[in-house]
Amino acid sequence: MKNDDLKTVELRKIKDEILSLEESPLYKYRIENKYFPVIGEGSHDSHIMFVGEAPGENEAKTARPFCGRSGKLLDELLLSIGMDRKSVYVTNLVKDRPQDNRDPSDEEITLYGAFLERQIDILQPKIIATLGRHSMKYIFEKYGLGSVLETVSKIHGREFIGQASYGPVTVVALYHPAVALYNGSMKPVLMTDFKILEKYK
Ligand code: URA
Repeated sequence: MKNDDLKTVELRKIKDEILSLEESPLYKYRIENKYFPVIGEGSHDSHIMFVGEAPGENEAKTARPFCGRSGKLLDELLLSIGMDRKSVYVTNLVKDRPQDNRDPSDEEITLYGAFLERQIDILQPKIIATLGRHSMKYIFEKYGLGSVLETVSKIHGREFIGQASYGPVTVVALYHPAVALYNGSMKPVLMTDFKILEKYK
């Protein structure tokens, strides 16, 4: 089997497992609302993986990550460095929508985080860009960067070298695009931070 087909098969397994993840505290809510889990999408060969927090309502209705207002801004930020969504891989830490967009619980983060780690092992990105504080904390702690973990405001836009199962991986913490929707003055900060990703194209 070709390498890319293998990746597709392995990612498919993850999708099937999450689809039947009855032990998740978010499973019942998903079924009752006819939502979908959001596994991730984009290029399986990309060097860049974005990790958001959890699907919002638009995402849970369509099974696609970042397809609402934050996603539009993500597209704009990518465009500003000459990239588009199809050339990167975008996923979330938590794959099901938490009720009313509340923060995910520790239990949910642990449960879904294991799937994220499998996705990372399959796709082996050179750089993981976290969007928001939950995915930042999870990735920094899991990939040997717990000692440099600070608030997003202190470490955003800087490259750190973490240790993945397949070797070193660069990790960059970015503000969640939603931050710039609430506070327009944050958009230039995000645009500057995105420039770091250009060299991983
Ligand atoms: N916010 C996220 O963190 N992820 C999405 O998929 C959409 C909004």
